[in-house]
Amino acid sequence: MVPGKRVVMMRKTLLISAAAVIAVSSSMGFDPPGPQKWLEAIGTTDGLPAVLQRALAPDDGFQPIPVPGPGDWLAVHREPGQTFEEFRRSHPNRPDGQRRIIYLQPLGDFPEQQSPSLEKLREYAARFFQMEVKALAPVTISAGSFTTRTNSMTGRRQILTTDVLHWLKGKLPGDGFCLLAITMEDLYPEASWNFVFGQASLNERVGVYSFARYDPTFYGQPRGKDYPALLLQRSMKVLTHETGHIFGLAHCVYFNCVMNGSNHLPESDRRPLHLCPVCLRKLQFSVGFDVVKRYAALAQFDRQAGLGDEAAWLDRRLEKLRHSEGN
Ligand SMILES: [Zn+2]
Ligand SMILES: [Zn+2]
Repeated sequence: MVPGKRVVMMRKTLLISAAAVIAVSSSMGFDPPGPQKWLEAIGTTDGLPAVLQRALAPDDGFQPIPVPGPGDWLAVHREPGQTFEEFRRSHPNRPDGQRRIIYLQPLGDFPEQQSPSLEKLREYAARFFQMEVKALAPVTISAGSFTTRTNSMTGRRQILTTDVLHWLKGKLPGDGFCLLAITMEDLYPEASWNFVFGQASLNERVGVYSFARYDPTFYGQPRGKDYPALLLQRSMKVLTHETGHIFGLAHCVYFNCVMNGSNHLPESDRRPLHLCPVCLRKLQFSVGFDVVKRYAALAQFDRQAGLGDEAAWLDRRLEKLRHSEGN
């Protein structure tokens, strides 16, 4: 584990997990919510189309969030969760007729052998959010005049996130719902921090996320046979989780969900790629997509990407929803 300060969520910017977390051994009394709390968090679905009601039912397709182990996110961070109603009342960023495209800004090199495919990430995000996603032309690190340093623990170059966020603010296209820089470079948010996975400014609709630490060689470990699929999966997860924050989704404390907070890589790897019913309702409210069409598009992608377990989960959901369509 790395030394340093606790991760903090500020009003305007959100520092993304695990940079430097003080691990404590108790779970700070976090009690995983049960069915009553799930229903309260989802809110009444009366009046919604039958297929959406079925999609939002907390049935056995969704796994309860487990009791956090030492060092896990909810053992360290006291987070109350965010019900659908609380989300709706927070007036979150929503796509509209003008701001309707998610833009990705590749930053620095994406060497083919050690990076996720940008096109696959773009395609996945388009299916996940059911929105148009465009990748801008890559820019070099020097083009942005960002502050860099060499991390004394890893000997690797790091880029100052606040410089990147400042640069991105002036680049959000007029039709952009948000602009997200993605990079294989390591990041840091301020001098006293060892590193950070990413940082976002929700009000400005910009963020920057690094995939550097998802490569086992970063930690001096060999890449396994499944490395390309693993890196893609990790990158898909961080991209959708962090973009979810730009939509105003807070960390999920209800079910196993891609919006669960994560303090370290094994915890992040345990998260599923999908949204639980609470978080699905929030995103569906914001975007207004067809849940069946979305699951079918994601299942096709996951199957092609070699993510069989997640594809099978989506197939089971589809079976449930299509059955309800006939009722
Ligand atoms: Zn998060
Ligand atoms: Zn959730």
